[in-house]
Amino acid sequence: MGKALIIGAGGVASVAIHKCCQNPDVFEEICIASRTLEKCEEIKNKLAGSRTKIHTAQLDADYTEEVINLIKSFKPDIVMNLALPYQDLTIMDACLATGVDYLDTANYEPPDVAKFEYKWQWAYREKFAQAGLTALLGSGFDPGVTGVFCAYAQKHYFDEIHSIDIVDANAGDHGYPFATNFNPEINIREITANGRYFENGSWVETAPLSVKKVYDLPEIGPKSIYLMYHEELESLAIHIKGIKRIRFWMTFSDNYLNHLHVLENVGMTSIEPIEFEGRQIIPLQFLKAILPDPASLGPRTKGKTNIGCIMQGIKDGKPRTYYVYNVCDHQECYAEVGSQAISYTTGVPAMIGAMLMLKGLWKKPGVFNVEEFDPDPFMEALNKCGLPWQESFLPTLLD
Ligand code: NDP
Repeated sequence: MGKALIIGAGGVASVAIHKCCQNPDVFEEICIASRTLEKCEEIKNKLAGSRTKIHTAQLDADYTEEVINLIKSFKPDIVMNLALPYQDLTIMDACLATGVDYLDTANYEPPDVAKFEYKWQWAYREKFAQAGLTALLGSGFDPGVTGVFCAYAQKHYFDEIHSIDIVDANAGDHGYPFATNFNPEINIREITANGRYFENGSWVETAPLSVKKVYDLPEIGPKSIYLMYHEELESLAIHIKGIKRIRFWMTFSDNYLNHLHVLENVGMTSIEPIEFEGRQIIPLQFLKAILPDPASLGPRTKGKTNIGCIMQGIKDGKPRTYYVYNVCDHQECYAEVGSQAISYTTGVPAMIGAMLMLKGLWKKPGVFNVEEFDPDPFMEALNKCGLPWQESFLPTLLD
C-alpha cells in the first residue's frame, strides 16, 4: 500500500517498526533514519525476513535540507517523526517542501525553553491545508490514545463531557534505583515543570508534583497519582464539547521522587548550560548520559501499565460516568517486540495512526490532533494490534 520514512531509532521507533513489519500489506517499504546509522541497522537486522522491505539512512533531522534530500531519494508516502520534539518543525518544513504527509508523537519544544505548546505546530495549519497534506500530531498513547478515547466517548456515550481525568499509571519495576522509562531529558523536563489543569475556561497552575491523590486502578491496585501538565490537555480543552474541567495524573513511586528531588536540588535537572573543564555542558544532558538507556530497561522490567480516561457528563439529560483504559504488561511487550510497555504503548499507536493515514481513513488537508478524526477505526485497530481497551460505566471518580 505504501512507503514510510521513520525518523528516529530509539525505544518508540523500534516498537513502531516491529509493528509496521507485522502489517506488511500496509507498510510495503520503510526507511529507518537517525543520526546513528548503527541503531537503524540494529533494528533492521532484528527484522530480517520481514515482508516489509527495510532501508536505513543516516540523517540529522535538525537540518531541513537533509530531510528534504532523504525524502526525495526514498519517496515515502508518509514521514513518521519518532525522533525528539526538537525536530518537529524541521521535519514538517521538509514534508511541505516535498509534498508528503506527516505524523509525530510529541509536540514541538524549543531546545532552550521547557515549554509544551501546540502553537508552533498549529501555525502550520494553513500551509498543510493549502498543500493538500495531512499532519497528524501526537499519535502516541498520551497524547494519542487518550485523545482517541475522549473522541470515542464523545461520539458514542455523551452529549456533553464535563470532566476528564487522564490517569497514567506505571506499576513496572526495572530494579534500578533510578531510571526513566523514555528519553530521560524529555521525561525530566516534563516532570519538573509546573502542574496545570483546565477549569471553567481558564488554566490553573500548581507547583510541580504538589497535588497528590490515591487511586485504585484496575489490575494494578491503589497508587499515588500526581497532577501534572500534559500536552493533550491543550487540544482536548478546545476539541471536547462542553468540557468544564480536564486534568492529567501520573503515578510515581516515593523512591523515584526522592531521587528526582535530590537531582533537582543539586542542579542536575537544569537545562541552563554551565562551564565545566573549559566547555559548556547542560546538566540534564549530562545526567541523561549517565542514566540507564531506556532501551536497556526492556528485559528487566516486570509489572503492568494502566492508562485511561475517567469521564463525567450528560447523555439524554441524565448524568453519566465512563472509564476507558488499556492495561499493558511489560514482559509480554518485551517477549513480542523486545521493548518494555512505555515504548510499546507509544510505538503501537504511532503505527496505527500512520496505517489509517496510508489507508486514506484519516486523511484531510491540514494539521490535526488525533481527537479531530473518527475514533472508531483507531479503537478497532488498538484491539487488533496489541493494545486492547476495557470500559466501565461505574468508575470511582476523582474529586
Ligand atoms: P529515544 O531517545 O529512545 O529515541 C530518540 C531517537 O531519535 C534516537 O534514535 C535518536 O538517535 C533519534 N534522534 C535524536 N535526534 C535526532 C536528530 N537530530 N536527527 C535524527 N534522529 C535523531 O526516545 P524515545 O524513543 O523514548 O521517544 C521518541 C519520541 O516519542 C519522543 O519525542 C518522545 O517525547 C515521544 N514519546 C511520546 C509518548 C506518547 O505517549 N505520546 C510517550 C513516550 C515518548 P540518534 O541520537 O542516533 O540520532
